[in-house]
Amino acid sequence: MSIFEEPIYSAFEYLNSLLNLEKKRLFESINLIASENLPSKAVLEAVGSVFSVKYAEGYPGNRYYGGCEFVDRVETQAIELAKKLFDMEFANVQPHSGAQANQAVFESILKDGDKILSLSLDHGGHLTHGHKVNFSGKRYNVVFYPLDPKTYLIDLNLVEEIAKKEKPRLIIAGASAYSREIDFDAFRDIADSVGAYLLADVAHYAGLIVAGIYPSPKRAHFVTSTTHKTLRGPRGGIILSQSSFANSINRAVFPFLQGGPHMNSILAKAVCFEICQTTEFKQYAEKVVLNAEELARHLILNDLNVITGGTSSHMFLVDVVSIGLTGIEAQSLLEEAGIYVNKNTIPYDKNPPAVCSGIRIGTPMITSLGLEVSHMAQVAEFIVKVLKERQAPDNLREEVRQFCIQNFKKIF
Ligand SMILES: *Cc1c(COP(=O)(O)O)cnc(C)c1O
Repeated sequence: MSIFEEPIYSAFEYLNSLLNLEKKRLFESINLIASENLPSKAVLEAVGSVFSVKYAEGYPGNRYYGGCEFVDRVETQAIELAKKLFDMEFANVQPHSGAQANQAVFESILKDGDKILSLSLDHGGHLTHGHKVNFSGKRYNVVFYPLDPKTYLIDLNLVEEIAKKEKPRLIIAGASAYSREIDFDAFRDIADSVGAYLLADVAHYAGLIVAGIYPSPKRAHFVTSTTHKTLRGPRGGIILSQSSFANSINRAVFPFLQGGPHMNSILAKAVCFEICQTTEFKQYAEKVVLNAEELARHLILNDLNVITGGTSSHMFLVDVVSIGLTGIEAQSLLEEAGIYVNKNTIPYDKNPPAVCSGIRIGTPMITSLGLEVSHMAQVAEFIVKVLKERQAPDNLREEVRQFCIQNFKKIF
């Protein structure tokens, strides 16, 4: 056999050892990172399929290359499924990531210096919603709406007040670290009252939305999402909108921002969307939320401060300053015990973003690995032992590993 025919495991020992170590890490630790998930085997196979060969600049029926018969059918299928799942008129499935999906929407309707109103990163928003280190903060004039200082919820009256005063051209509803429901319809009404466009960035909530258990963003002018978070698809992005924006969105994605689409990822997106239509997926999404609610409940029973007192989604924030830690300390203590979370700012955080006062906890990955509501007391106990009782995390590592080996589904 030549090296062009051998799989990685026989050809390159070092790289293969890393692959095996990463598999071990994934399946022998408790991954509570809210933005990560385990895709199905079918999705991973599609990503590694021969569709990664094809150059297909352009769109179905209008490509710059020959040989696009089957990629055209794959992309058309992905588009049709996306439209159906989100109940919207138009879809572009080519964005390589959520960040590029957002950038394409901005490019399609904004000029440099136009005003955007969004939730700031430190209150749960995303870098691409206008943070000063990101293109969005450099090219546009950004104003932020804060969360209510007492409830830490979105205050729609305040959003409306700021919108009326600032007259933004675009309002963004969506977040990376907000655990409660976002009323996208109310945001649309506010946008209409000031003549703004509404972008619903549902990167985190998309899986719950297509399962019908989180508010629908379908009245927004634009919806962007990643496909690799709660949707359980390949890494990538999508854009949905009303059909009147089809041409400007398509031109913003290609040729403005991207070159050839990753057809292997688009096949995987189509596979993911097929799976999203099944009752099994709906049950999965429901379980994700039930697990998050139950995990939050057990942490609260152990006197941990869960922001907003619970969750209505797949994630929540825990204030760790109240137990004498910073976010970064909590993250690394948990990591030593084989539990992954990420440090996160909490609303009105007094610590700098590199330190943070909280951690974000999510259940998409552990639910994909088969954990049920009945397992959440044990997961909470591990967290409490590390963060509150300050048991030496390396002593707990083996216990966590055994818990994973005993309770996770053997998928790969
Ligand atoms: C994750 C996320 C993105 C960006 O996705 P990438 O694929 O990492 O570029 C955009 N918006 C929100 C709200 C997100 O949570």
